[in-house]
Amino acid sequence: MKIKSIRASQPATPEAPKDWRTSLGQILVMVETDDGLTGYGVGGGGQAAVHVIETVIGPALTGQDATDVEGLWDAMYSMTLAYGRKGLAIMAISGVDLAVWDLRAKRANLPLAYILADDVRATVPAYRTGRSPDAWINEGTEGFTALKLSLSMSASESVGDVVERVRRVREALGPDVQLMGDAFMSLTVETTLRIADGLRGVDLGWFEEPLPADDLTGYARLRDECPIPVAGGEHEYTAKAFETLMADRLHAIVQPDVCWCGGLTELVKIYRLGEQYGIRVCPHRGSEIWSLHAICALDPDPLAESGREWMTWVGDQPNIVNGEISLGQGVGFGVRIEPDDHA
Ligand SMILES: [Mg+2]
Repeated sequence: MKIKSIRASQPATPEAPKDWRTSLGQILVMVETDDGLTGYGVGGGGQAAVHVIETVIGPALTGQDATDVEGLWDAMYSMTLAYGRKGLAIMAISGVDLAVWDLRAKRANLPLAYILADDVRATVPAYRTGRSPDAWINEGTEGFTALKLSLSMSASESVGDVVERVRRVREALGPDVQLMGDAFMSLTVETTLRIADGLRGVDLGWFEEPLPADDLTGYARLRDECPIPVAGGEHEYTAKAFETLMADRLHAIVQPDVCWCGGLTELVKIYRLGEQYGIRVCPHRGSEIWSLHAICALDPDPLAESGREWMTWVGDQPNIVNGEISLGQGVGFGVRIEPDDHA
């Protein structure tokens, strides 16, 4: 099964947040083989990643054996080393890697989860991200038993304001709902510790991305001083980098994004590392189909984060119903793409 062509494009996402997620947002990768199969994957990096695929990865992989999934990953990593390793180039590799995994499962005529394990969970719990405290309080939980709130602090807000809004949600929803918080790399060590101190007794499950991803010294301080488990990794790349985070226990929970961190080849390695180091793996945007197969097959403590609502061009993805999501029986990732729309 040789690779006949690799195509990449950035389909429009008019509902995406008007920031880098529009200009450097998710890309579609289609890998065709000489026996007539097409594998689909999603990466990140917008037109920059499309350029890497069209000028470097596509020409180099055309004619190669599509079944050598891990060998293709090593080749892509090596050929982009001078400008890759993290960020856009690895986002491009992620999309190609997912597409060849789709082919691997399609060739076996199985849902991808069954390539990863014999014993697969059909349904896993989900949590919702990106809703305001007032919406949770006024509109209820819509069946969710776990949810994540923003811990970012605007210029006009104080530590007390952030603490207050989390406490209001806890008081309104009671003790049985799991609450987590996310600061999207926006705080300092000192501010993180002050917020964590203010949240004593609130039972926050994790404090996500308080610091920029490269502030490993700061994360080491939080490991030693923060009373709330620190999560992170959605902006980290490759299993090798995750091993550093785990070996030094810089995060208590790691959150790789399979469309950015290097694809399923890397996510599988990260799950193995999680087992080795005793650290929980909880993929970013895990209810999107690209991570969900791995979660259902490999995750001992599954909790799938709600997906990017603007990713409407990936068809036939399962929806979260009453706080749970079920894997379908489609072959490969089981997605429906209209290839003519993205030629
Ligand atoms: Mg996050």
